[in-house]
Amino acid sequence: MNDTKTPVFSCPEEQKVFSRVYKYADMATRLMEEHKTPPFPNTYALMYAYASAENDDIVGIVDNMLERGDLSAYEIDEVYSNHLCPMQDQAKREKIGERVEAQISSVLDLVGTGVENSDQFETVLQQIGNGIGQTTSIDQLSAAISNLMSENQRMAGQSRKLSDGLKESRKQIELLRRELEDVRNESMRDPLTSVHNRRAFDIKLAAELDAARQNNSGLCLAIADLDHFKRVNDTFGHRIGDEVLKVFANIISENIKGQDLVARYGGEEFAIILPATDLKAASILIDRIRLQTFQRKLVLKGSKKPLGDISASFGIAQFVPGMTPDNLVELADQRLYLAKRQGRNRVQAEDCETNAA
Ligand code: GH3
Ligand code: MG
Ligand code: MG
Repeated sequence: MNDTKTPVFSCPEEQKVFSRVYKYADMATRLMEEHKTPPFPNTYALMYAYASAENDDIVGIVDNMLERGDLSAYEIDEVYSNHLCPMQDQAKREKIGERVEAQISSVLDLVGTGVENSDQFETVLQQIGNGIGQTTSIDQLSAAISNLMSENQRMAGQSRKLSDGLKESRKQIELLRRELEDVRNESMRDPLTSVHNRRAFDIKLAAELDAARQNNSGLCLAIADLDHFKRVNDTFGHRIGDEVLKVFANIISENIKGQDLVARYGGEEFAIILPATDLKAASILIDRIRLQTFQRKLVLKGSKKPLGDISASFGIAQFVPGMTPDNLVELADQRLYLAKRQGRNRVQAEDCETNAA
């Protein structure tokens, strides 16, 4: 009987690969224990990637995190989604790319066979045509006609095969197009809250700034930050904190529409891009979000214990010609900071403290 603790390898190469994998797995779990990291799969994936040292960026980033002792779940998730997920996206894209190539070559085969067959058909038709001119008897003519019919039938069969093949191929290609679209969408979303992520935000903000410049249209940016969120985590735990983040993201999503976009900008910070919107309209909309957040009385699922007041502060900036995306973010951020300083649970759309909302 086999010793169940000894892995069975089919060949020495496999043994080598497996012992390397075990070594990295062991290093990853030891690092997690040593640094008391959150015990989640993303942490393990990151530590495994660090132990394998296959990606210099990840080694540098994790070295830096270990040095700073900053291994919070949020930091880990950020690095995971920015550096490990894109690798997975790329792998998925490559797989889809391979399948598209296979489809293209099968379509080319089909079309090639079709062309070959139609060339053959033409030659046979010519032969039959030539033969008809020389027929001397009804029997010969009737033989030529049945020849023509059977060639015709053969060609119709081939065309059907070609058209069925092309139809099937079109179906497969459409499926691949949708899969690729899903991968692209996934790479633009924050996995916790499902709103857009920082990558999508950067792309959208740059595009909306260009549009506002060209069309001379209004554009506002709001940055939101949950108030005393650390307290929520400390009192109720990280998982409840995560649920609050989802509720807040939902409230924002429910209040925006059309060209607007909400993105998770950082841990408990969200950015809202409001194209074709002036400062007054933006302030009204953002204040509605603030009020709905404050009025949402959240309770714990089982015990129904209230979570207490949940609120957020907001800074709004309006685009003026000459501003870069960074300028707009900085201005909204400064105003958010003002809103915090003035007591939180408020919207700040001006620079001057006396103009508080
Ligand atoms: P302030 O009103 O000044 O914004 O206070 P705050 O406590 O919200 O601010 P601080 O920046 O000190 O704390 C932010 C907290 O948000 C700390 C961090 O643990 C938490 N956080 C960040 N990302 C996540 C997350 O994904 N999930 C959970 N549960 N908490 C998170
Ligand atoms: Mg914050
Ligand atoms: Mg906060």
